Amino acid sequence: DIAPEPAAERAEDDASPQLVWADDGSPRSGRFGDVYFSKDDGLAETRAVFLQGCGLPEAWSGARAGRSAFTVAELGFGTGLNIVALLDLWRRTRPEDGRLKVFSIEGFPLTREEAARALAAWPELAETAAGVLEVWPAGTPGFHRLDLPQWGATIDLAVGDARWALEQWSGPADAWFLDGFSPALNPGMWSPEILALVAARSAPGARLATFTVAGAVRRGLAEHGFAVEKKPGHGRKRERLEARMAGDAAAAGRPRHVAVIGAGIAGAAAARALLAEGARVTVVEAEGSGAGASGFPASLVTPRLDAGDALIAGFHAQALERAGALYRALPDAVVAEGVLQLEQAPRDATRFDKIAAQPLWPEGAMRRLAPAACSERLGEPTTRGGLMMAQALAVRSSAVLEPWLKGAERIAARVGRLEPTARGWRVLAEDGALLIEVDAVALAAGWGSAALAPELSLSPVAGQADWVEGVAAPPPAAWGGYVAPTGQGLLYGATHDRGMETPQPSDAATARNRATLAAVLPRLAETAETAPRGGRRTAVRATTPDRLPLCGERRPGMFVLTGLGSRGFCVAPLLGEHLAALILGRASPLPAEAARRLAPGRQTAQPAPAADV
Ligand code: SAM
Repeated sequence: DIAPEPAAERAEDDASPQLVWADDGSPRSGRFGDVYFSKDDGLAETRAVFLQGCGLPEAWSGARAGRSAFTVAELGFGTGLNIVALLDLWRRTRPEDGRLKVFSIEGFPLTREEAARALAAWPELAETAAGVLEVWPAGTPGFHRLDLPQWGATIDLAVGDARWALEQWSGPADAWFLDGFSPALNPGMWSPEILALVAARSAPGARLATFTVAGAVRRGLAEHGFAVEKKPGHGRKRERLEARMAGDAAAAGRPRHVAVIGAGIAGAAAARALLAEGARVTVVEAEGSGAGASGFPASLVTPRLDAGDALIAGFHAQALERAGALYRALPDAVVAEGVLQLEQAPRDATRFDKIAAQPLWPEGAMRRLAPAACSERLGEPTTRGGLMMAQALAVRSSAVLEPWLKGAERIAARVGRLEPTARGWRVLAEDGALLIEVDAVALAAGWGSAALAPELSLSPVAGQADWVEGVAAPPPAAWGGYVAPTGQGLLYGATHDRGMETPQPSDAATARNRATLAAVLPRLAETAETAPRGGRRTAVRATTPDRLPLCGERRPGMFVLTGLGSRGFCVAPLLGEHLAALILGRASPLPAEAARRLAPGRQTAQPAPAADV
């Protein structure tokens, strides 16, 4: 390693909660000088103040019976005690088919070990706590989506300042837990701006609970439309607060029926996310899953490395984290962990230094490697240094696509046209025959999306990759070209032919791929030359002028997820969830600033380097 571990700097950074452990084992914040929960009966207090204060479980089982999702938002995730107690109640009282969405904000995250130590005080919550600790995220800034499919729940944890996080969150919440230390010690968590944002992200009839009855908090909530009431407090505390937003909770709607056009990684990710949210999904695809650019024997899951644009770097860090979690949950999907990015141009050395130092990546996730360490990893000498992307992966495409499409209805046809109706969309075949009529369409057909929505600024970049069998492949590496193990052998590529729409496999392209490989790994290239040929394949990537995906609503009820270039397997899992949230009117896992940068109607600022497809 040539750079110091960034973790060394991070230990003293200003996001540490500065925990102090009391003799009774309970944590206290050195930073704020306050306790996370009351020592004697923290759990009972959580239940009385927050769960009962928000009218739970009746609020999700009574008035809102049949609603398919109930959203709880919290200011101050801390040790996670409130959310663990919430999940514990949910597990016992959840409505059939109900889904619980949790959004919580934490500026100074605890590590998993710290949280485990704090939560160990409540043996009766042990099982639920273990479930949450298992998915406990790295404390890197930004949004993290955590899955608890066993309980029909997800947690979106925003690591960052409360005001920023509320501005970035789409909401709306059905219930709020305001738990940000006492207003006297931490006024920033209770400012008029914060209370206005809370109100703005509340569903009609939303409930709110907090332990404080401070006048400024009561007035602030009332000013923004909450009816506020003091209630007898728990234990030694005299009073607590309950509040309710005006309006009635929406009645349950019928489940939405969505047509997903395309069964590559974009379509599969969108289908998976929609199905997980309880939507009805019909996938329309002419040639079966992975017929386009997602159909190679292996795919690299690598983020776009951006040393300058923090928003784009953060988006890719979030996408990579989410993709990894979802692929690891699939049997046989991950072929290799860790991808070595090799220096390609002289400026890459400083660029990789900057990327390794970005606070976005969990400890050890991005490490600079000297040429000797790269050589050792690759199994042959190289003079190039590199960036070891420990979270990046190689995945077996087929082990991802079909499992994610399971549960969707399928229509095998080529879509010719999409037509809006008064209530939704019609999907028509090339001969004009009606294939299906749905509430909403998700266009996820890669380069094929261009023909169905010509207004999208997409352009084709054709590529070929080749593979051989019976070769012991090194761990995956990329440098403009790439190598990846397939399980049976070695995949290498890929060519980039801009503007080409109908590529055919060719010896010329195979020769170009061999030359790309030989330029960096000549010994491996020689082995590949004589090894039994596995196959070769061409496909067209869809790219955009700024090399960022297109994801969002294009016209009312018409959503797109395309333009993924060569990063589909990295960005699609998270973007599929963002798209599902938009389609179903639920809270998105994506910060609003990232969602805006990726929206199909965006103004393209400046084109990205052409090298990043
Ligand atoms: N609900 C937590 C639990 O169950 O353990 C306890 C929360 S503790 C009372 C308050 C939390 O708010 C702390 O974890 C603190 O780091 C966080 N916090 C305080 N000010 C913040 C701010 N401005 N932005 C984000 N988080 C903040």
